[in-house]
Amino acid sequence: MSETTNNTAAKNTAADTATAAKQGPHFPEQVTGMYILARALKEVGIDTMYGLVGIPVTEAAYIAQGQGIRFVGFRHEQQAGMAAATHGFLTHTPGVLLTVSSLGFMNGLTATANATVNCYPMIQISGASDPTMVDMDMGTYEQLDQLNTARPLVKAAFRCSHAKDIPSAVARAYRAAVSGRPGGVYIDMTTPALGEIMDASEAEKLFYKPVDVYAPVAPTQSAVDRAVEILTSAKRPAILLGKGAAYAQVDDKIKELIETYKIPYLAMSMAKGLMPDNGEYSALSCRSTIMEQSDVVMVIGARLNWMLQFGRGKWNPDMKFIQLDVEPREIDRNVPVAAPVVGDMGESLDMILASLKGKTMQTDPQWVPSLQAEAKVKNAKFHARLADAVSANPMNHWSALSAAKKVLEANPDVILVNEGANTLDDTRDSIDMVLPRHRVDCASWAIMGMGMGSAIGAAVATGKSVVAIEGDSAFGFSGMDFSTICRYKLPVTVCIFNNGGIYNGVGVPLDKTTDPAPTTLDVNARYDKLGDAFGAQTYYVTTPDEYQQALTEAIASKKPCLIDVQLGADSGKESGHIGYLNPATLISVTV
Ligand code: ADP
Ligand code: MG
Repeated sequence: MSETTNNTAAKNTAADTATAAKQGPHFPEQVTGMYILARALKEVGIDTMYGLVGIPVTEAAYIAQGQGIRFVGFRHEQQAGMAAATHGFLTHTPGVLLTVSSLGFMNGLTATANATVNCYPMIQISGASDPTMVDMDMGTYEQLDQLNTARPLVKAAFRCSHAKDIPSAVARAYRAAVSGRPGGVYIDMTTPALGEIMDASEAEKLFYKPVDVYAPVAPTQSAVDRAVEILTSAKRPAILLGKGAAYAQVDDKIKELIETYKIPYLAMSMAKGLMPDNGEYSALSCRSTIMEQSDVVMVIGARLNWMLQFGRGKWNPDMKFIQLDVEPREIDRNVPVAAPVVGDMGESLDMILASLKGKTMQTDPQWVPSLQAEAKVKNAKFHARLADAVSANPMNHWSALSAAKKVLEANPDVILVNEGANTLDDTRDSIDMVLPRHRVDCASWAIMGMGMGSAIGAAVATGKSVVAIEGDSAFGFSGMDFSTICRYKLPVTVCIFNNGGIYNGVGVPLDKTTDPAPTTLDVNARYDKLGDAFGAQTYYVTTPDEYQQALTEAIASKKPCLIDVQLGADSGKESGHIGYLNPATLISVTV
């Protein structure tokens, strides 16, 4: 073939492809990359997708709906991502987020990065410009090198430049999201791949069900024996439960370990309820005593990070840690671990329980009763504090929580979503959880801006009722997605604790200015009217009695509800429980 003929042939093929794309595929003989994406998701068992559509993914969402995948459309991608992440945490399967290119991708990536940090399995699928144009910096529509932007923030990243690659990318993304330490995975779904037309019979050959998509790995027997030896010889043993243990859905095994061997336990925030907060061996209010006096602590799916003083600080320097984690790099991170048990939680606990059979613990007989006595005194003090707050006028966090506590503890199957500063800390401390995976909060990064998304993800993934207790500042990050709760008619009640500011509403600017202080919001804002705009059932409450009644009614209604909980502007302190992390405090400590 001469060069001229060759060029003409190439031109003709390009022209044919362009015309075909304009005309669209001839269904049912032909399909697009978008169809292949929807089918591939269905094939691996994805039944729900969260996202926000636009060029180039709108049709993909329509086709997914047509394939029977539920599509939940949001007002902001970050919230859709938070929903996907929460879906992942609660179901042990990846939540899926669909975003448009450039800014939509970036907004969603915030949530995907947060999922990676918190070990929630999720997959962000983003529309992306033609990479050949991005790579040549041609200034194409929504140009951004998304693949390389996502890479450092996710467990794995794939780019589909051809429709035929989509099923493999989806199956591998699923496997990567759930296997080993779970996390966020990114698929760059390029415009050429989405728009590519294939013969349906050829496309059909691409679909497959991945085998053993979640393959748990067992620890070695010698690691288990070492751990059991240390645990059984402990005088003052304790168990620390983290959200990795809650995620793993090994509730019965943990119960058996704690109840058979009578080991006191502490739960990290999102592990609350894995064993009841008010249970016989719960040492939730004896955290300092456990840190200082235990000789062996078995860490189950938690990290010895900033939340636990890096395993140093207050901790007994002679402590022997036993750590169960799927991620080998977690071991010895901040402090030497005497007995690492690296493997999937279920496998590890099965082997530990088997090895413990017939062995007896050497626990000091005074250890458990002394913790129980301490817990009794502390709990009584805490109840008195809540009771005292009831008469505060206007309400403070504790008075509002005295009401919320009664209602939520009477409705234990409601999932509690919680963010804020004081609103986070005080709610976590006040409300006892008795069921696993019923508390979702701003987790390891302690971020604000997960509330509406996580509430939606929790309601959609489980079908259960959800109550979100939000600081007024925290609510502001995701507030517009309250409208998503209304559009999808979800049984979610959002309570906004309005003290008019970040931390509180009484900030005074340092310099002369007529502007509000950096921490000041609006204590007189009527958030309930925002709920009215979207047809929610709304309440404005100023006393604990009113709040108790409103929350009871709201949960029972199973409808979208919004309760504006009016607090005094002076309720709350800077940074809540973590004020010691403020640079000003650090300076005054070091000077
Ligand atoms: P918390 O904030 O409650 O302390 P973290 O997110 O810090 O919890 O820690 C959770 C830990 O659980 C992580 O180190 C993660 O690797 C581990 N993990 C998650 N899923 C599993 C699993 N299925 N099996 C074992 N370990 C897991
Ligand atoms: Mg506030």
